[in-house]
Amino acid sequence: MLNDTHKHKGMRNQLANVLQRKGITDAAVLEAVRNIPRHLFMDSSFEDHAYQDKAFPIGAGQTISQPFTVAFQSQLLQVKPGDKILEIGTGSGYQCAMLVKLKARVYSIERQLELFKKTSRFLPKLGIRPKQMIFGDGYKGLPEEAPFDSIIVTAGAPFIPKPLMAQLKIGGRLVIPVGSDPQIMTLLVRTGEKEFEKTTFGEFRFVPMLEDKN
Ligand code: SAH
Repeated sequence: MLNDTHKHKGMRNQLANVLQRKGITDAAVLEAVRNIPRHLFMDSSFEDHAYQDKAFPIGAGQTISQPFTVAFQSQLLQVKPGDKILEIGTGSGYQCAMLVKLKARVYSIERQLELFKKTSRFLPKLGIRPKQMIFGDGYKGLPEEAPFDSIIVTAGAPFIPKPLMAQLKIGGRLVIPVGSDPQIMTLLVRTGEKEFEKTTFGEFRFVPMLEDKN
């Protein structure tokens, strides 16, 4: 049952205020926080935690990212309506839902079959329709749909995968946490065929981006 009440909406408004105080300025991102029922992306027994600014376990050893992290990465993407965006690490689908609410055309890759199936079934029930959900290895990106306006990685990457850089449009943005515990939030803007401009934004903590050994 998808149970979304006034109480939940009130908590979302408060969460959006908290994120604003922590430095999120993008009005569309804050509006999406007010609109997406985050509690439905988590096990119902954790409902009370859904609107705190915290990461949370979603099963299969994975987490739903902290709302501040989702908002911060979304803001760095500077999403314009119609942008073609690749997400690595679908997980609970919350970040994916945020990008859909920002009117992007979203392609999202998840390497855990269980999560991939669960989230692919869940998002349409909320009326959230990404362009494509893919079961696969994010290190390879999605060459058949490249180039992308933006690529967002929502797992901690030990290094910046070359295929992701190659699949960006000129002017495109790659937002990726790099390193191991903590990661450094990194923005790469592709300024030319072979040129990239890098900016870093401090420490964040993600579950690791895993490489498939086959
Ligand atoms: N964006 C998610 C965050 C989930 S945590 C959310 O909003 O809930 C990171 C996710 O990345 C996990 O589900 C994990 O299984 C996935 N992941 C890790 N390595 C990956 C890889 N190489 N390719 C695709 N997904 C990967």
